Amino acid sequence: MIKRESDYSLLHHNTFGVDVKAATFIEFESQYELEEIIKSGIQQPCFVIGGGSNLLFMGDYCGTILHSAIKDIKILEETDSEVLVRVGSGVTLDNFIDYSIQMGWQGLENLSAIPGEVGASAVQNVGAYGVEAGNLIERVEAVGLQDGDLFSFTAEECSFAYRDSFFKKAGKNRYVITYVTYRLRKLPDAKYSLEYGNLRNMVVNAGDVTPQSIREAVKDIRSAKLPDTSVLGSAGSFFMNPVITSQHAASLLKEYPAMPQYDTADGGKKLSAAWLIDRCGWKEKRMGDVGVYCHQPLVIVNHGDATGKDIYNYSQLIADSVKEKFGVDIQREVNIIE
Ligand SMILES: Cc1cc2nc3c(=O)[nH]c(=O)nc-3n(C[C@H](O)[C@H](O)[C@H](O)COP(=O)(O)OP(=O)(O)OC[C@H]3O[C@@H](n4cnc5c(N)ncnc54)[C@H](O)[C@@H]3O)c2cc1C
Repeated sequence: MIKRESDYSLLHHNTFGVDVKAATFIEFESQYELEEIIKSGIQQPCFVIGGGSNLLFMGDYCGTILHSAIKDIKILEETDSEVLVRVGSGVTLDNFIDYSIQMGWQGLENLSAIPGEVGASAVQNVGAYGVEAGNLIERVEAVGLQDGDLFSFTAEECSFAYRDSFFKKAGKNRYVITYVTYRLRKLPDAKYSLEYGNLRNMVVNAGDVTPQSIREAVKDIRSAKLPDTSVLGSAGSFFMNPVITSQHAASLLKEYPAMPQYDTADGGKKLSAAWLIDRCGWKEKRMGDVGVYCHQPLVIVNHGDATGKDIYNYSQLIADSVKEKFGVDIQREVNIIE
């Protein structure tokens, strides 16, 4: 059934806990309903949200907010070694991960406890502990926002990259994702990714290496370093890790020998945005209700009644300070909604 509301509070639709309203809010439960909504005309501007865990609303939204409540899950193909499963965009990603592990499927366990929904997992190419959703996605189905036509994108057409995809570039604000098809392995063919941080130690110390034991370890690591958004508003990492040239990296290393640097495939160096922000002294700087999280300076938090503008301005001061101290530009990962 279609839910349609006017002057609708988005307070519980964004994990920053910013108190804003949408002129119109429409939620649909099927692809058919979505096609009908688009074909009968939508008040513009229009923006699609998932769980609101990577959004910062700068103020009330004067147009239509669309939200998918498509929640069906269907196995399309299955062999002894893998399964192709089509998941509704409105399914909570972590619920699907839990379900996939109960079904004996493997691949998504490292992404456990990432907030948000399945549709956005393809938009954002969510990633954690050495795994990215894009590596497991086979196909993305969507409805065009302009005329309600159906589209189907292969993984290649989705152009997945670090926290990036076609849907954040040429496809931005043009499609509503309805289904994401994941290709997951079955246990005899499991390929675990345990190279990140102390994940391997934690899992091995706990006993057997299984998708479930990895999931539990990932959840423990995350809860120790990330805020619970039901208690403290945030959108996770506010900035992406910057990539700079190897020459720039070498000159920074002379001045800051402890600076973490990681090789990239194209010969550049990835820096830790958290390290840069920390060295600019942001752990100690709270401005009104905005600050950085005590365990992770990459995470900006709302201690109470911060507005989107308060949070945005604070983030700009962080980016300016990193630029001034290190000559490095850090880009926002969070989507800013005007
Ligand atoms: C505490 C915390 C920890 C986090 N940790 C991680 C992490 O480890 N790794 C990581 O990658 N991210 C992380 N994030 C960020 C966030 O969880 C992801 O970006 C997630 O994919 C956002 O999902 P969402 O459903 O909330 O999307 P939203 O925030 O609502 O939307 C994100 C983007 O996707 C688009 N979108 C959403 N649904 C659809 C749809 N159906 N069709 C078309 N476009 C759509 C929106 O327009 C927007 O551009 C974290 C966030 C928090 C709050």
